[in-house]
Amino acid sequence: MSIVYLNGEYIPIEQATVSVLDRGFLFGDGVYEVIPVYGGRLFRMEQHLWRLGNSLAGIKLENPYGIAEWRKLLTELVERNGGGELSLYLQVTRGVGQRDHAFPAKPSPTVFAMASPYPKSSEPMGAKAITARDIRWELCHIKAITLLPNALLRQQAVEAGATEAILHRDGIVTEAAVSNVFVVSGREVATPPKSAQLLPGITRDLVVELLQEAGVPCDERAVSLEELVVAEEIWITSSTREIVPIVELDGVPVSGGQPGPVWETAHMLYQDYKARIRAGAVD
Ligand code: PLP
Repeated sequence: MSIVYLNGEYIPIEQATVSVLDRGFLFGDGVYEVIPVYGGRLFRMEQHLWRLGNSLAGIKLENPYGIAEWRKLLTELVERNGGGELSLYLQVTRGVGQRDHAFPAKPSPTVFAMASPYPKSSEPMGAKAITARDIRWELCHIKAITLLPNALLRQQAVEAGATEAILHRDGIVTEAAVSNVFVVSGREVATPPKSAQLLPGITRDLVVELLQEAGVPCDERAVSLEELVVAEEIWITSSTREIVPIVELDGVPVSGGQPGPVWETAHMLYQDYKARIRAGAVD
């Protein structure tokens, strides 16, 4: 049975309930994180907690816990769910209040965290993607639970027989509906630079770091839609999907419809990093 954390208690998921007046439910007024767990160890906990703090600051909600408290809470949740390979989801909302767009004077945040089995990749040989106009708001660096535009975009991809929608604004690639984007052009890797137009992905940052350490040229720079559609390779990255090669974009094969050679290198570096997490050498 899955044990979840809700407002100070560890309880079976069936017993975890929140009020219908919670602002997360009424307004999507909250933020979240997804943290993979490899061999019982949390992946890049410090970076995830830093981003959580940044998202909370972005919605003007005080962080309910300090770093040490978060670490203790999440580590205990992993232990109570048997460790191993998990995906942790945590969410902080502005809590219960009268239904009013303006914030309550003294909010009492709702803090929820759960652990699920780490999802098995269903795309070992690559995935299909479509391109779509980025219809989201101007604060995409905040990991907000208000995900309706992302859900509409991912559904658009699913209905086109693809798994992801790669987004563009004014001819420039931002990210994808649920992941960040990398392209390989002339054997050099590029990913859009961090800005309010995209989520600063923890996986993205690690991929940049690992490639640069390995001497593979990797730039954080603007990627145009024109460059995307002729790229030698396209990858998407996220905590639970890691690095997925896109082998078809808008119905046209990418890198001959196969994962490309630079992806093979990135994938190997990433798997090696995960092995080091399991061994407790890095986090
Ligand atoms: N961009 C968006 C819109 C996302 O929803 C996600 C993950 O959920 C990412 C990027 C990737 O972030 P991370 O690597 O931290 O999982």
